[in-house]
Amino acid sequence: MSSHLSPTNVATFYHNQCDLYLHKSYHRPPSSSPRAQAVSPLAAAHYKRGLQWEAYLFRELQRRKQFIPLRKTHLYKPKEIRDALLDAAAQLRPRTSDEEEEDVRYIAYLSFQSPDFAREFAQHGSPPRSVAFGVAKPDLVKVSLGDQKDTIVWEIIDAKSSTAVKSSHNAQTGFYHLCLRSMFEDLPHLSGKKLVPSDKVSIWLPSRETDEAGIEDRVSLPSSMPTSLLLQPLSTFLFKKLPVILSKPRDQVEWYLNPSCQGCEFLDACRDKTRQEKRLGMIPNLSGSDARLLREVMDIVQRQNPDWNAVTDIEALDSLIKSPDMMRKLEVAYAPTTKKFKRIAGVHRFSGRGPELFSPLIDAALTQKPQLTRRRVFSFPRNEDVAIFISVIIDISKDPNASDGNIGAFCVSVVRLSTADHGTGRRKSAGAPMVMAHVTGHPKEFIRLVASLLVDIGKTPGARTQVYTYSLAERNAIVNHLIHAALSSPPYIPGESLATEGTSQGSFEESPGDIRLVLGALCDGAALLVTAYQPQLLSGVLLSFLSKKNTLSKAHLETCCRRLGLSGEGTTEVLRKRLEQEQWRLAEIGGRGIGAGVARREVGQLSKIVVLKKEVERLIALPVEGFIDLPSTAQVLLDPSDRRKSSIGQCEPDDVIFGAWMARGKKRFPGISGDEKPVIKWEDALKTRNRVMRAVLDNVRKRISDAGLSEQILLNEAKPIESGMLDLCESDKLRRLMYMTQFEVVLRLQELWQERLDGCPNAPILRYVRAEKRGTLWLQIFDVVSGVLEAPVEERPFYDWLLVPDDAGDGVPPEVHFDDLSLCSVVVRPNKFVRSRWDEQQPVVKQSITISNIVDVRMEKTPTEDGRSHKLCSQAVLETYYTGNHLTKGALYRISPRLVNFNFEKILLNLITMDFQHTVANNPVPFIDLIDNPEAFAQSPTFCGELEERKEKEIVRGLNELAKLGVEHASSLILKASQHRAAKRMMMKRLSVVWGPPGECTGKTYTLALSTLRILEVLGRRAPDQCPVILVTAMTHAAIEAIVGKIESLIGKYLAIKDRDSLWLNSVDLQRVRQGKTHPHPVLDNNKVYIFAGTTYQLYRFCEKAKLRANVVIIDEAGQLPLETAALVIRWLSSTGKLILAGDHEQLAPIFIGTYPEPEDLPLFGSVLDLLMGGRKRTGLAIAATEDESQHLYDAPVVQLLENFRLNEDLGTFVQIIYAKKFIPQKSQDDLGDLRLWLESNKSTNRIMEDARLFLLGLTEAMSNKKSHSFKLMRPQLPTSSGLEKQAQSQAVSLALIRVRVTKGSLSPYEEHVSAEAKLVAALVHWLREAFPEDSIFVACPHRIQRSAARQAILSPQEIETAERVAGDENVDNLAAELAAFHLSENGLRIDTVERLQGSEASFVIFPLSHTHQPSLSSHLGFLLSRRRLNVGISRAKNLCIVISSNQVLQPSLEVLTSEETRKGLEFLRAYEARSWSGDISLEI
Ligand code: SF4
Repeated sequence: MSSHLSPTNVATFYHNQCDLYLHKSYHRPPSSSPRAQAVSPLAAAHYKRGLQWEAYLFRELQRRKQFIPLRKTHLYKPKEIRDALLDAAAQLRPRTSDEEEEDVRYIAYLSFQSPDFAREFAQHGSPPRSVAFGVAKPDLVKVSLGDQKDTIVWEIIDAKSSTAVKSSHNAQTGFYHLCLRSMFEDLPHLSGKKLVPSDKVSIWLPSRETDEAGIEDRVSLPSSMPTSLLLQPLSTFLFKKLPVILSKPRDQVEWYLNPSCQGCEFLDACRDKTRQEKRLGMIPNLSGSDARLLREVMDIVQRQNPDWNAVTDIEALDSLIKSPDMMRKLEVAYAPTTKKFKRIAGVHRFSGRGPELFSPLIDAALTQKPQLTRRRVFSFPRNEDVAIFISVIIDISKDPNASDGNIGAFCVSVVRLSTADHGTGRRKSAGAPMVMAHVTGHPKEFIRLVASLLVDIGKTPGARTQVYTYSLAERNAIVNHLIHAALSSPPYIPGESLATEGTSQGSFEESPGDIRLVLGALCDGAALLVTAYQPQLLSGVLLSFLSKKNTLSKAHLETCCRRLGLSGEGTTEVLRKRLEQEQWRLAEIGGRGIGAGVARREVGQLSKIVVLKKEVERLIALPVEGFIDLPSTAQVLLDPSDRRKSSIGQCEPDDVIFGAWMARGKKRFPGISGDEKPVIKWEDALKTRNRVMRAVLDNVRKRISDAGLSEQILLNEAKPIESGMLDLCESDKLRRLMYMTQFEVVLRLQELWQERLDGCPNAPILRYVRAEKRGTLWLQIFDVVSGVLEAPVEERPFYDWLLVPDDAGDGVPPEVHFDDLSLCSVVVRPNKFVRSRWDEQQPVVKQSITISNIVDVRMEKTPTEDGRSHKLCSQAVLETYYTGNHLTKGALYRISPRLVNFNFEKILLNLITMDFQHTVANNPVPFIDLIDNPEAFAQSPTFCGELEERKEKEIVRGLNELAKLGVEHASSLILKASQHRAAKRMMMKRLSVVWGPPGECTGKTYTLALSTLRILEVLGRRAPDQCPVILVTAMTHAAIEAIVGKIESLIGKYLAIKDRDSLWLNSVDLQRVRQGKTHPHPVLDNNKVYIFAGTTYQLYRFCEKAKLRANVVIIDEAGQLPLETAALVIRWLSSTGKLILAGDHEQLAPIFIGTYPEPEDLPLFGSVLDLLMGGRKRTGLAIAATEDESQHLYDAPVVQLLENFRLNEDLGTFVQIIYAKKFIPQKSQDDLGDLRLWLESNKSTNRIMEDARLFLLGLTEAMSNKKSHSFKLMRPQLPTSSGLEKQAQSQAVSLALIRVRVTKGSLSPYEEHVSAEAKLVAALVHWLREAFPEDSIFVACPHRIQRSAARQAILSPQEIETAERVAGDENVDNLAAELAAFHLSENGLRIDTVERLQGSEASFVIFPLSHTHQPSLSSHLGFLLSRRRLNVGISRAKNLCIVISSNQVLQPSLEVLTSEETRKGLEFLRAYEARSWSGDISLEI
């Protein structure tokens, strides 16, 4: 056959993203068919696994009598296919109304020649038949009867044995869909029957829930992709881009060698060409986005230096890095791009070479010699006494989620100093002899063998031990294996002895003790949260608060000691001392000892299993093209003569080792293409692999040591094996929350450590000017030389910055040695406690670091460098903690953050205390009941019953009558229908969730406030007995103030109504708790009902001190409050107390640094609202019916408020598509007539201003049903709420969309795209501000860089300064003051990130979402298309929302569609597009 592409070629392109691959595949000579190529053992195993799954699936469909096999070798013509579909449909029974499932058939073994797609190419402006496609073989075509009479629906389904759907799968099924659709459209119409394509294509993956007998489990439902999202980008690619790619001369086709080239049939040729032409692929392991950025930088410099077009990629990059002038220009014009470029190319200053910059990656590529990167690492130890190397063969034919993991075989090799002398502090010389012992085995032996080994190593006290694997895949396979073993083993009984010691060799028994030991020694990370085992983090130092004086009673301390394996005897002080000693012991073992005298301290944290590949790549730039594996690493690092001398042997590629394992017992490889190679022994190959790992490890260390940099680069030594568990909580869920809380701290620390190791490249640089006295305080004044420093909102001195002289030496930055944990929970003030902690810091820290507090960042006029004029300069005003360091005038300093976390100790202590109350004192703990079983919690008894219900009816009747009589304020006390449902639920039941989308304006806060008072009113005189304490909290001060204000105002209204019993209000005492420790204790027997409102932290401290129990806990904005933080308040709920939550889980959730697995039963790692509303795997609590006003109306715990007071009807109708129930709008759209008048009478000569004016004018004309002549505005494709068909005077125009196109400069850097978008934003703001000076406007930016660009484009310098000042602090406690302060101008313009606008509203919202910069698009789309973020951005608007987007975002390529979250976001945005008035505007860059 002549040139063509097969559907598999198309799918493969979506894996490797390589134009050259398509070009070569299409234009290959007929003689070089891919069939002639040998298939590698790994590919063969993948293929076999696919066939097995397909056969399994087909058998199951046969068993269900749904399977229709066609002739396997026949190439079907379109008409034959249609007939086959009609025949299949003839077997189907129409579904009756009581049947849940439809009758379907699956046609298999269909083969056909792809159509010529003449129509499709023409539609996309391409020549007819510009690309030919080969034979298509969809695995299944599902046939079912449509809803419409005589329609037959067909759907393409492919069977894939992967664990997740990939974009290549979607491309393949989408292609088949297009084929059939095109073929059927060309056939003459049938009379009577109509073949209709399904609106989705599907991939049938093996279900993860496999069990031995459960066929139904294995073949669950296929995963589907809507064709509305899939076909448009696929068609654009196939019929528009592909002809262009294939028609290019080969030397103009874009490509670079990279890790996804592995397995490509053209690899050898591409590798040779890369080397010859010194192409970008000389830098190994470049990701697609990294390569695109490097190209972008090359384009910039080549535009400025046309001579550089003649040099190779690598030479151009080398010239750039060595040109200080060019680098400076780049940095000034494109700061973020340059920063990324430096990171990717590893560019840094090398002190031995003067001011010149240096990139080890480029040097290695040019010289073909390995180069030290000189990057410091904490994750690769300098030395160890015992090294354990583990090589694993991953069994590709198995599902990685199989109950016993997917390790096929393994080899563990142990290397130890032959005459170890551990624990004495003496270290062996580098040349000390080593002994290496190997164990190979079956996966079932893995845990027992490793446990036995660990026990053996443990017999040498203090032996510093480190475990290594080569690849991340091997590490993951080991961790997976251990997690599966932990999940399927019986629970570990504390004190259980290790089975290993008593088990005979050869037995496959794994005791829970073995599993626990190996898991503790080898695993860390968030994945462990699915098991009951959570190892200690940071050697237990995060639990050091246990030994401090706190609220733990003697009984609690005894329990602590026992659970840590210590004696529980002695006085409180003795127990505390014992805990303290244990923590010192653990810290010391873990290399985290504290105090000035400690011999060594771990910097950062070593992983339990070090992945050698990652570490070697970080430390050494290797001259290897495309991608790195162990053989290529050994090849370039190890001297062949040394290898021979040490008998290291030949390291085989993974593919060959896998083939040897597959062929075990045979003499030849069982390759599909009849491979003739003799079989090597997999055991020998793995042993050699471990030997090579060891040799590479030694080689890397030697290179670093020869450069005299060991201590500077490799900051840590290995430490003794630590397998301790975090067993303080008996409750499984509390233990997991404890681990997650600690893990978040560790992750934050890791971010700081990494930044510090790299010399704080992102730290702002300051120049010291002078000291200035303010009152009694001496303040230090600095000019901000580079970077952005934002002033805090509050004046509270946190002293959360480290100030260090910025001398560009090569030494270890002093910040690296700063011990954050010892000072993280204190505000640094010059007192005795802080002084003692400070004294324990390392000497280098005390000599170089000044702990500082940013008091202010201000704009000052400073003289220019030539002294002739003045310029505006940003100045930082700092308060410094006295350390004895002197600041030098004119010297440069860098300033970077330290870890400040005042709350995590409180959260941990609270979790432990609740566990002890539950398990030791056997007391009920409502929080544990809630997380164990929310349904049961919701059903448990509370106060209020039938009597109160009757009384409530009377109250409502009375208020209605008063309202009818026109009594002032009476109607304010009447709840709307859904609000009333929520109020009744709160009154009658223990758990209520008031779901109030979006923001507070569904009357959520009002409902909470009035319902609280209603409960007190129905209780009347009994309220002080039944409900004396109510706690009210929320994530932000603003939200707390809002609810307090609402309660106060409602009380005022109650009191204002005369002739109504308001005596019950005399007992209500509403107090704002600002300082929990000092807030006056309530006296609870004086006939009062106390409502205490405060942050979770202040209420926790207050209740702890006052020993309070709450009868009601109310949490507003609960969707933003992490569960473990909410526990600080829920802890104080009485055993019959009510819990009332309000919020919206469809808006932005709390931010966690880590990604946590969702447990099977409940989503624990999110907000308290997520727990109740459900997560990915589980639906949440029942939602109340809305229409039903019957007596059961409060039976369901979740009540959605339907009355929407913010969004007008049009906006509300759109936003509600993601909510369960429809909103009932309480307002209509405001007239935009003023805007039209203003716009008609003002024109602009600036093109972008004029475009914005005409677009807005078009909107106003559309609103008044006028035809617009000024702007080509597209009507909504779907009717707006007011109905376009209606001949109304005005129609809703609340949703608008601008599609921006970049006409010039589409290849310009990211910053220029952002800036062009910001100019359009500024133009829109300008017209809206002028026309509506009284109305509020939000510019809701997804990214900070957009916020900054929008501010630059919109605001005056004074306004920018104010904005920066108030936007600087992410601390939630500061938000109230921030919100109060945030009025940039009189008309309430706010330009901020979407996150920071959550909870507030504006008349107009401008939401910039265009991302026209193609190279960085794919890495941003997941963020931009988060449905929660889109929902928050759009639903801030009361009157008009203008989204600025682009085709790049609205019609992204297939890759982004594999993420379910992104897909949901895209559907939401596309729905917005369909309902909005839209127009195109071109941007010139
Ligand atoms: S080896 Fe890589 S660069 Fe070459 S054709 Fe294949 S995928 Fe493209």
